Amino acid sequence: MRIIVILASAAFLLLGAASGEWKAKAQTTADSTRIAADSALLPDANSPYRYRLRTVVLDAGHGGKDRGCAGASAREADVALGIILALGKQIEENLPDVKVVYTRKTNVFVELDERAAIANRNHADLFISVHCNAGPSAGHGTEVWTMGLHKTTANLGVAQRENSVILQEKNYQTRYNGFDPNSPQSHIMFSLFQSAYITNSLRFAQRVERQLRTSVKRPSRGVKQAGFIVLWKSTMPSVLIEAGFLTNPTEERYLNDKANQSYMAAGIYRAFREYKRELEGG
Ligand SMILES: [Zn+2]
Repeated sequence: MRIIVILASAAFLLLGAASGEWKAKAQTTADSTRIAADSALLPDANSPYRYRLRTVVLDAGHGGKDRGCAGASAREADVALGIILALGKQIEENLPDVKVVYTRKTNVFVELDERAAIANRNHADLFISVHCNAGPSAGHGTEVWTMGLHKTTANLGVAQRENSVILQEKNYQTRYNGFDPNSPQSHIMFSLFQSAYITNSLRFAQRVERQLRTSVKRPSRGVKQAGFIVLWKSTMPSVLIEAGFLTNPTEERYLNDKANQSYMAAGIYRAFREYKRELEGG
């Protein structure tokens, strides 16, 4: 019995030493791999092949005959345009190497698929869509969305409301391959698109969420995923920002103010600058 215990202890010690050594070796390998990977990823500032974020498409939700959701006096189409124009101005003034393309600069109606097509035609590196939310009067806070499968019926509800805009478009059934904005199955089917861009979409979405929460000090409902038609066919990282609830009187007052629209834009701008710097290697 005693011999067995001694043997077992010896075996344990041997195993322990071996695994310790293995661990140390593994750590060295992991470290050198990490250094190699990082240095391989670090772009040379002088390299002509260095990644550049050159073009951003800014999309103010709704417009024209489609006024979006509404509060007592504010309309989603107008608030979204106010934030988008302020954001575009900040990018143009501070980052002159970035080309800013707008899906609309005035109060006009633009189909959802045309918004994505504008981004694709311009070979955009990022697509930013701004909207305002609607819900019970107590509902408040910002939401930043990327394409993906909704996890709750509330998330599906936001996408359904934004997607129902296509009912105002001509021939929407042929334009959107028979997509029915009232059917949950339709939303599940196409929420799988955009998966090639999900990492960078989330990377940017998280920066927007943090900036709006910390710099602009807006209450946040987090980063979420659902199937939005406007993000469906874009072939680049894409996010949709719900700037707040127009159905909440306090948020409606805040969002319906030009200075506050500029603050919101400044938060998104800072996130954009961070994201651009990170992808370009600082
Ligand atoms: Zn909207």
